[in-house]
Amino acid sequence: MATLAYTPVDEIEKIQAELRAGFNSGKTKSVAYRKYQLLQLAYLVQDNAKAFEQALAQDLGRHAQESHFLEINSSIGEIMDAYKNVETWAKPERPARSVNFMFMNPVTYKEPKGVVLIISPFNYPMWLCFSPLAGAIAAGNAVVVKPSEACPAVATLLEELLPKYIDRSLIRVVNGAVPETTKLLELPWDHILYTGSGRVGKIVAAAAAKHLTPVSLELGGKSPVFVDPASDMQLAARRILWGKSTNAGQTCVAPDYVLVPRASQDKFVEALKTAYASFYPEATTTSKDMTKMVNQQAFKRVNGLLQNTKGTLVVGGETDEAQKYIAPTIVKDVKGDDSLMSEEIFGPILPIVPVDDLDAGIAYVNAHDHPLALYVFSQDEAYKSKVFGNTQSGSAVANETIISPAVTGLPFGGIGASGSGYHTGKYGFLMFTHLRASIDTPGWIDKLLGFRFPPYSQSKLDK
Ligand code: NAD
Repeated sequence: MATLAYTPVDEIEKIQAELRAGFNSGKTKSVAYRKYQLLQLAYLVQDNAKAFEQALAQDLGRHAQESHFLEINSSIGEIMDAYKNVETWAKPERPARSVNFMFMNPVTYKEPKGVVLIISPFNYPMWLCFSPLAGAIAAGNAVVVKPSEACPAVATLLEELLPKYIDRSLIRVVNGAVPETTKLLELPWDHILYTGSGRVGKIVAAAAAKHLTPVSLELGGKSPVFVDPASDMQLAARRILWGKSTNAGQTCVAPDYVLVPRASQDKFVEALKTAYASFYPEATTTSKDMTKMVNQQAFKRVNGLLQNTKGTLVVGGETDEAQKYIAPTIVKDVKGDDSLMSEEIFGPILPIVPVDDLDAGIAYVNAHDHPLALYVFSQDEAYKSKVFGNTQSGSAVANETIISPAVTGLPFGGIGASGSGYHTGKYGFLMFTHLRASIDTPGWIDKLLGFRFPPYSQSKLDK
């Protein structure tokens, strides 16, 4: 495990002051300047793809294929989307013409918020730094990025590379754990984007409230999957198992549990077993394809949930504490009060919760916090509409898992306990942008609107 040099706490205020001076210089007002920084950011990722691949392997024991698909390529994609579109996004907008106000020249300017803070989690330590950074830079802000200390190799690489490619007076990395983040949170910012657990999200929101700092919270939760018994079960099984085992289930939008009508549970389990055998033809204790739990604490937590389940083990269940390894595991006949249903699993264990019917599944979901993602596997439009139309969630996804945050043009964010705000593409740009309303009223308008001035009279009111 790499050791991470933490930023001295007493330097943090100075770093913010330097960024404030950089922002106040006005250079980020230029869209050309922002585009140059974005291009540099894309080169940073491209030139150092191998180093990121190795750092991700070191921190998460992750296979290179997963890292390229999930983080390296999608980081470049997100940055280049901002690079290509920032001119359009940043253009002032005129509202639809209204007879009453059109001569006042109404316009909305898109202005940077100022100096912003991005706090990132461990599970996608690259993408969840670069994706919000792209939006913050495109919008013309100065930024502090606080990577997760749980991925020291990636955090070290970010601190080493960012100043080589990006204007140091505008982007800085602060590394550290709770004391360093607490210090950051004591300072006033113009926006804070926090991605991570709801528990820490509350700490961040409370600290931000002291300065009336606007906050976006990208949190997690238990994302359910509805499986229509009449659907293509092989397709559902493959995609659900992939979404659950990728990154060892440490994905904020990982399918957390499956709701399936009781009478069809075994049919679905058979489809999962087939998918499992094709993904993991060798013993899963030795699978080189499986990412590891990020640390011993995470291993112990997820293993504890597994050891305490009262469900029936279908396949998997092997663990190796020294390697922080948990095999992809399927558990059936899981009830609502089971350990596996007590919190977001954030590990490669898939509980199957049999329900009487679709209505019972919908009622179960609605009795809990709004999830970050909600999945339905069905080829029947009425089935999908019924699920989506009677639930609330950050995203509503049919016949797919985990990919939607990377789909260009779609917002990515939660609702209720799964968060607030959106940090991808144009929505990320808007999160870090102040919409500055403006009018410029010519003098002759008083010929039309002079009646507004005192002295007031009944005759003016009657006009
Ligand atoms: P975490 O909350 O433990 O840590 C995230 C960040 O908060 C880290 O940078 C950490 O240093 C900081 N932090 C931790 N404790 C703190 C404290 N007491 N005070 C101030 N800062 C503190 O989260 P995690 O374990 O890294 O990430 C897992 C969670 O993140 C899961 O719940 C997952 O669903 C969620 N998540 C959400 C999204 C999304 O976009 N919605 C994406 C990825 C992960």
